[in-house]
Amino acid sequence: MEKVYAPSEVEKKWTRLWRERAVFRPDAAASEPSFTIILPPPNITGSLTVGHALGTTVQDLLCRWKRMRGLNVLWLAGMDHAGIATQKVVERSLLEQGTTKDELGREKFLEECWKWKNKYHDRIVEQLDSLGASLDWSRETFTLDPGVSRAVREVFVRLYDRGLIYRDRYIVNWCPSCKTAISDEEVDFVETHGKLYYIAYPFVDGGGEIVVGTTRPETMLGDVAVAMNPSDTRAKALKGKMLELPLTGRTIPVIFDEAVDPAFGTGCLKVTPGHDATDFMIGLRNKLEAVIVIDREGKMNEEAGRFAGLDRLEARTQVLATLEEQGLLRKIDDYDHSIGHHDRCGTVIEPSISRQWFLRMKALAAPGIEVVKRGEVAFTPERWGNIYLSWMENIRDWCISRQLWWGHRIPVWYCADCQEMIVAVEEPKTCPKCKGSRLAQDEDVLDTWFSSWLWTFSPMGWPERTKDLETFHPTSVLVTGGDIIFFWVARMIMASLEFMGEIPFSTVYITGIVRDTKGRKMSKSLGNSPDPIDIIDRSGADAFRFTLMMLSPPGQDIMFDEPKVDVGKHFANKIWNAARFVLGQEQEEACAAGDAAESPVVGSPALEPAAKLHESIFGSVVGGEAVFGWEDRWIVSRLCRRARELEDYIDTYRFDEASRTLYDYFWHEYCDWYLELTKAASRGGGARARGASATARTVLAASMILLHPTMPFITEEIWSMLAPRRGLLAAYRFPGIPESCLDAALEADVEFFKEVVTAIRNLRQAFAIPPGKLVKAVINCEAGRALPGRLERFRDQIRLLAKVDDLTIGEGAAKPSGSAAAGLASVEIYIPLRGIVDIDAERRRLGKDLEKLERECLKVEGRLKDPRFVEKAPAEVVEQERNRYNEMSDKKRRIARILEDLE
Ligand SMILES: [Zn+2]
Ligand SMILES: [Zn+2]
Repeated sequence: MEKVYAPSEVEKKWTRLWRERAVFRPDAAASEPSFTIILPPPNITGSLTVGHALGTTVQDLLCRWKRMRGLNVLWLAGMDHAGIATQKVVERSLLEQGTTKDELGREKFLEECWKWKNKYHDRIVEQLDSLGASLDWSRETFTLDPGVSRAVREVFVRLYDRGLIYRDRYIVNWCPSCKTAISDEEVDFVETHGKLYYIAYPFVDGGGEIVVGTTRPETMLGDVAVAMNPSDTRAKALKGKMLELPLTGRTIPVIFDEAVDPAFGTGCLKVTPGHDATDFMIGLRNKLEAVIVIDREGKMNEEAGRFAGLDRLEARTQVLATLEEQGLLRKIDDYDHSIGHHDRCGTVIEPSISRQWFLRMKALAAPGIEVVKRGEVAFTPERWGNIYLSWMENIRDWCISRQLWWGHRIPVWYCADCQEMIVAVEEPKTCPKCKGSRLAQDEDVLDTWFSSWLWTFSPMGWPERTKDLETFHPTSVLVTGGDIIFFWVARMIMASLEFMGEIPFSTVYITGIVRDTKGRKMSKSLGNSPDPIDIIDRSGADAFRFTLMMLSPPGQDIMFDEPKVDVGKHFANKIWNAARFVLGQEQEEACAAGDAAESPVVGSPALEPAAKLHESIFGSVVGGEAVFGWEDRWIVSRLCRRARELEDYIDTYRFDEASRTLYDYFWHEYCDWYLELTKAASRGGGARARGASATARTVLAASMILLHPTMPFITEEIWSMLAPRRGLLAAYRFPGIPESCLDAALEADVEFFKEVVTAIRNLRQAFAIPPGKLVKAVINCEAGRALPGRLERFRDQIRLLAKVDDLTIGEGAAKPSGSAAAGLASVEIYIPLRGIVDIDAERRRLGKDLEKLERECLKVEGRLKDPRFVEKAPAEVVEQERNRYNEMSDKKRRIARILEDLE
């Protein structure tokens, strides 16, 4: 084994071998119960972020764990065409090459998009590989694959036939930059400091005016009425009145509508059905024509008269200036309100009327609400269930058409001869009504989510009833971010219930948001997100994965910072060194044992937990005569207990606890205690040494199994050396550790033993006893609790680990004069210091330390009592000083106690 673990070579090797041996390709005909996760298909425009690494690690951990526990696991790979996002980046790159999408035309432009897809596809595969994702690439699906296209058209036609899809002129969220309609869910509302402008509209008959308040004065050019709430006290007097709309010469009526909030502004609302969603509804109710003054690019059109051709924001300035000139601008108030922006490009949304396709959601939502209320689909953390339900209960129709080229074209054709509209899965050759052949397909494409909402079943061959669907649907867990719960999670639940007649998954696990140490969400635009590939290059994928899991408390965001990966890196090194030690010992033994390697076991080791576990993991009995000690029984019992805890944590998605359990077990129990004890057991050689080394090896192998889902690479590498005949660890089926390995009484006794050893070691350190120096020790046990008997069996190991040559254990044992003492719950430990340390010199040294500490303490105390410091210094600096003070006070007390002992 190499002296130092070098992740990069090891990771590449295993990625290749796993792929070559098709370890992650499940057989749909297998008889084991299945476990399925669909990878949220990454956008082909994207590159891996720390957030993706977190979600991917959680999914991989679950898949590897379930696979090892014998389930038939499918983790389905796929990618998303990401309509608007891809179209935008391709348009931008065309612009850099000096051309545009309109110059190229639809077909050529789509070729460019496919080129982009192919290039970035490979990069995403590489990134997922480098993280160790155990995805089934043989079933990989792209959202524009022919099979998915077929499913999308089928779904469209079925929903249309059910009367749920309709086409209408309606007010939609229009992005003037992307030049497409978008859904409500794609609008981000940003709280903005704005202004509320008050504009006077004079009555036509000359008597007075009505003042309206608006945040978007340029839209007044498209006003068709002024509305008041019918309960308004002024309403009666104003009935039937007409107003002159300034700057236009048009005359508009005063109308009454319940939707007007009498408390907002002046209680009078200018009605602009062409450019505001509320006004659009008022317009429908009151049969008012919409006047459109802003075009699709966000510019004023000819309806805007002298303002035509201006950008909407420039028009705002000029409209206000003109109103001011004419004395119609009454006042301007500061006004904070939220403004809708397109989530992809940040452009301010312009509500606008256009002809779009919509999907009625109410009927689809009802069963989706039921399954969550009944707990058939459960959210982790639970609070997401309520967020889901409140959205579903207030669901609105989904605008599914997009004025883009990159995507699934809407399966609707129009006859040029008789205007017939044909909705069909396959392209029609002739018009069914007039038999004409001049048919043109709808120019628009479907919202990108209209393909991904079918993602639990369309990649498995729906609408055919395939073996994959039968075996792997419903899927088990969906792991995703909370930001796409409406876009994707909710819609998948609705689609699966509608088209599969069953839930798409039983659990939705929502990962936390990855934030930097200042609490800011990691994002490309802030530049505070390290590239996961760089982290992997520097520290290895295992270290990165382990750290992410350890930092990820359920239901909370994770604070990430690259130096934190050192925890995982040190752990990987610890694992490596332990394996080197165990394998090295093995080699020595093999040389010494010669031909004994395959001879039968002597004694009754068949009853030994370690021997049984050895047989279960390696498929062979311990070679040669072997004797097992309490240490072996203890570490196997701990292993069994920790494996149970681990399973429980993974089943309840507490990945931080799972990682901590693995870490504590491996580092503190296996390495710090067990391997130390093994060294002693091995010292005598022979059967006892063989028993100890067989146990060390067995438990190391079992640890590799338990660690594998979190740290797949290093564990596979060590496994290949430990159990070369057992095949790949990634494909290993782990039956679990039998309960008969548990020995609670022994664990409690060993805990007692560890406390005693630790107490002696602490005393040695406190009194600066040289590390190699053997001491005398007296353990005085509380009477009547049979404690000496419990400790007696550990006598040799206490002496060895605590470097004690003369050990007295007894009830009521006296404290020798000049002893250091330490008290535990039921025993006292004394170490006579005469002849071991120079008591006078030690007293002088400690006295000096104490003086120095006292001086320091006074200084810090003075600072903490100074209000100028406490009030002016940053809170964390004050906190630091306070901690320092407490630490020094503790230390002072400790030294004083030791000095007392030395008297
Ligand atoms: Zn946009
Ligand atoms: Zn026709």
